[in-house]
Amino acid sequence: MKFSKQLFGERLFARIMKATFYGHFVAGEDEVQITPVLDRLRQFGVKPILDYSVEEDISQEEAERREIQASVSEAGDEKREGVLKKYHVAKTFADRRYKVSSARTYFYLNEASCERNMDIFIRCLESVAVASTGVGFTAIKLTALGRPQLLLQLSEVIMRARQYMSDVVGGEGAVLTHHAKPDDFRKKFEEAHIKDEAPVQKFLQKLQSDKEGVIHLFPWSGILDENYELSETFQVPDIKTGKMVRLMTQLTSKEEEMFRNMIRRLNNIVTVADKLNVRIMIDAEQTYFQPAISRLTLEMMRKYNTHKAVVFNTYQTYLQEAFNEVKTDLEQAERQNFYFGAKLVRGAYIEQERARAAAMGYPDPTNPTYEATTESYHRTLMECLRRVKQYKDKREDPKKIGIMVASHNEDTVRFAIEKMEELGISPEDKVICFGQLFGMCDYITFPLGQSGYSAYKYIPYGPVKEVLPYLSRRAQENRGILKKIKKEKRLLSNEILRRFAKGQIFYNPKGNYTPV
Ligand SMILES: Cc1cc2nc3c(=O)[nH]c(=O)nc-3n(C[C@H](O)[C@H](O)[C@H](O)COP(=O)(O)OP(=O)(O)OC[C@H]3O[C@@H](n4cnc5c(N)ncnc54)[C@H](O)[C@@H]3O)c2cc1C
Repeated sequence: MKFSKQLFGERLFARIMKATFYGHFVAGEDEVQITPVLDRLRQFGVKPILDYSVEEDISQEEAERREIQASVSEAGDEKREGVLKKYHVAKTFADRRYKVSSARTYFYLNEASCERNMDIFIRCLESVAVASTGVGFTAIKLTALGRPQLLLQLSEVIMRARQYMSDVVGGEGAVLTHHAKPDDFRKKFEEAHIKDEAPVQKFLQKLQSDKEGVIHLFPWSGILDENYELSETFQVPDIKTGKMVRLMTQLTSKEEEMFRNMIRRLNNIVTVADKLNVRIMIDAEQTYFQPAISRLTLEMMRKYNTHKAVVFNTYQTYLQEAFNEVKTDLEQAERQNFYFGAKLVRGAYIEQERARAAAMGYPDPTNPTYEATTESYHRTLMECLRRVKQYKDKREDPKKIGIMVASHNEDTVRFAIEKMEELGISPEDKVICFGQLFGMCDYITFPLGQSGYSAYKYIPYGPVKEVLPYLSRRAQENRGILKKIKKEKRLLSNEILRRFAKGQIFYNPKGNYTPV
């Protein structure tokens, strides 16, 4: 692409791109130019998920330099006991674009660039609001809104808290899955002869549990307060000594402020989304960020999804833990009475995840085979559908769970439709929707939209020059994907031939479908 740009010059190159690759995968340069595309999709019953897809064109060296600088605390990368190496930056994988073709990547520059990203997301929300009243989405990435170091440290704390729970009460998994009560803790501290230590007593007094008495370990709901002190919060008594230990390295006051900035940006975006009646889809990224992204998203759901699902999380079913994570979050939503929104994907970072785990020597978090990923996807989706049915049977609002089946896999889409039918969940219940990328698998999205299913296209837009870095990676992906999607090519060739035969070369079909 770079060579073509030099050869043809900027303007001619932009025109060629618009007539070819860019025109196929990107809806237009700005909010005005994309309007005809959105109108056209609407005619065929398809709704938009807008994604402003500009990506900085930086070299691998620059990406690594920025990432390393933004991933380590000013206080240094402490090598304490209990440190989990997965949640620390590694130079070889600091360029997060490594072997990732279909997801955009943000590299932290400074706080001002995060403010700019927030403004762009808000502009995106305003465009969706105009284009699709009450049914559109905007996709956002948390790595665009703050310093990666904070997501890494928060992720590590979440995983260390899980480890702590296992050490104290046994078992595995998220803190809530242990269903531990304060009395279980008291007993364990008694057995360890540390119950009467002053820090342990203080800790036990402050320990929070929900209405069923299940321990939450930390006051997570406060994390969205703009005066939350991260490094002061995450302390627990050592089970051997009874002395308080920090699960998180001390942050500098500047870093605490950066965390509050990230939360403020996120709050601003979701507040605008709520006001404009647009939903926010928070993308899933690498597993070393994901515990923090998922936790923050869950807290946003708790705060904003009180009457409808405004915020949607993303679950990558190529992860071995996907089913358990979704189940725990569904249970929390039910117990704490908020609307649960989730986009289910297989996942875009598999090669990077596996290579990083192997190089750094921690367990590969992904499923061992493609079939295991499909099984995980279908099982997770079934769990959501089963719970929707439960709400319907109890005559409660089935919309308490909203799921997007984001997949280009025909079998998965067919599976979802069959199971919906089996369980008596109709498209009109508006709890299940489907999503594919713009320019891909139209033969799945359009028939879904025209048959009355809620169908979405994930639509990238942005100036040709600035979308180019993302597009050139898509080009690499598509070489592989095009091999697989022979069916789409065959259907397109048949249609071209049909139009030639009927003399309809410039035929422009019009639809009059109303999106569900
Ligand atoms: C609307 C939309 C939103 C998306 N948002 C996100 C997002 O936020 N985060 C994200 O990570 N991805 C996201 N994706 C990308 C999605 O993860 C990819 O489309 C997906 O990887 C391709 O899966 P598929 O179901 O479409 O197709 P398939 O071709 O059936 O599946 C391919 C996928 O299977 C998995 N896989 C392949 N080989 C193996 C193996 N040997 N072992 C285990 N698993 C394997 C991989 O995840 C691979 O990408 C999104 C996709 C869409 C359509």
